[in-house]
Amino acid sequence: MNGQLRINRHFIFRIAAPTIIISGLLVALGVIAAWSVQSQHLRSSELIANEVHGIIAAQDLYIDMREIRHLLQQYGRNDDVKHLNEIRSLLQLAVQHIANADQHAHNDEERAQMEKVRTEWSKFTEHLTLFLNEVPQNGGASKESIDRLLQDITNVVEPSNAFLILNRNVVDTTNEANRRTAEQSRQGFLLLGITGGAAGLIAGLLIARGISQSIVQLDISVRGAAGLMSDVVGPVRISRSGGFRELEAGLQEVETHIATIVGRLQQRELEVLHSEQLAAVGQLAAGLAHELRNPLMPMKMLVQGAIERDDGQGLRGEQLLVVEEEISRLEHSIQDFLDFARPPTLEKRPLDVRLVVEQTVELISGRADRQRVQIFDDFPDTPVIVEADAAQLRQVMLNVLLNALDALPDGGRVDVTISNTRSPDWHGSSDTVRTKPWTIISIHDSGKGFASEMLERLFEPFFSTKETGTGLGMSICQRIIEAHGGVISASNSPQGGAIVSLSLPPAN
Ligand code: ADP
Repeated sequence: MNGQLRINRHFIFRIAAPTIIISGLLVALGVIAAWSVQSQHLRSSELIANEVHGIIAAQDLYIDMREIRHLLQQYGRNDDVKHLNEIRSLLQLAVQHIANADQHAHNDEERAQMEKVRTEWSKFTEHLTLFLNEVPQNGGASKESIDRLLQDITNVVEPSNAFLILNRNVVDTTNEANRRTAEQSRQGFLLLGITGGAAGLIAGLLIARGISQSIVQLDISVRGAAGLMSDVVGPVRISRSGGFRELEAGLQEVETHIATIVGRLQQRELEVLHSEQLAAVGQLAAGLAHELRNPLMPMKMLVQGAIERDDGQGLRGEQLLVVEEEISRLEHSIQDFLDFARPPTLEKRPLDVRLVVEQTVELISGRADRQRVQIFDDFPDTPVIVEADAAQLRQVMLNVLLNALDALPDGGRVDVTISNTRSPDWHGSSDTVRTKPWTIISIHDSGKGFASEMLERLFEPFFSTKETGTGLGMSICQRIIEAHGGVISASNSPQGGAIVSLSLPPAN
């Protein structure tokens, strides 16, 4: 269930990847644009607020100076001292406004104009003080002195006006920049909107095209599968291709037919198994008949000879030995058949493989001596524990060692080694089996090795190159080793001779 969910998420992510990337880019662009518009806006607001204060200060200054000039002109016309008093009362305010305007002079040009204002203002106030001191209470100032003062105040009015214009220009420039930024933002957002929409549309169309192509391909595969099946289960009807629904219906149809085919295959498998079993029984019966007839023949001839002689002596000593030998051959064959047909149940116990191998070597040592075959062993010093049925493992060892002796009629050597190795990757499933070392028993003889056709069919029952062999030994060995969860393998050594390896899994 989890695995399915993971696959689905992965699948969905793969399909939606282009839109996710595009949406991510658009979100990032939107955030950057909003941030830049906001910071631009803040900067302009700050600038405009500053300039507005500057304009107010410049206007105050300009109005003061013009007012003073106007009052002076009035005084010049009617000689009324009330105008001079009004000028006096304006002076303090004008000084304040000059100081205020000074604070709002932010660039070199503005500062230069304010410098002029201050210089001309101090000249004017100096002359005005002298003038006010000289002018009698009842008026009557000379026209020249009034004209001079008018000229002084005009000298202040001019830079005040220039300062005012400069401030207005700055506000105009800032406004223009603001307007341009607003226009750019509008265009930017419009572009973002159009691009985002178009990109989303294209991504959607591409995804839809991809999915539709997949549907078409799936549809073709489903139709192909349906075509293949129709040979087995008759015509398979699949509606004309269209969308997911038709595809799903088609898949369901195919699934139903697959179930039918699988059912039939299972049935066929059972039938094949049955006929194989029958063939094996027939083969077994034929083999058994052959194996039983061979030893019976000499016995029958001996008995017939005794009957024909009719000397009342029956069979003589040597003839009895032949009969005994043939009877034990019969016994051996029957035991082999029994082992093959009805394998005994496993009784596994932890055991030291070294002991089982030593005991078996001991069993065959008499025959080995007679044949002048030397047996060498190479075992680890510490116990090699495996979980196994000792009797069956001994039977395997005995069969392999007897085969080795059969392969050495004129003497030679057999090397028996026990070693440990990492588990073969393909074998076993439990952790113990995978992580602990396996035990390998290897039997290497110095005979001619396996005949090439033999290597391929070594574990097939009834396949033997020996006159008196049943061809069952190796297949019984394979069955026993596999019942232990192990592996048996055979090969020819590059140095000559046959090697049989028994790999046993570690004890749990
Ligand atoms: P059997 O010994 O009755 O023939 P097996 O199944 O034990 O049956 O052996 C099958 C065949 O494998 C033997 O007939 C022989 O040809 C071949 N074989 C087995 N072991 C060896 C060996 N050590 N060297 C050469 N050939 C061998």
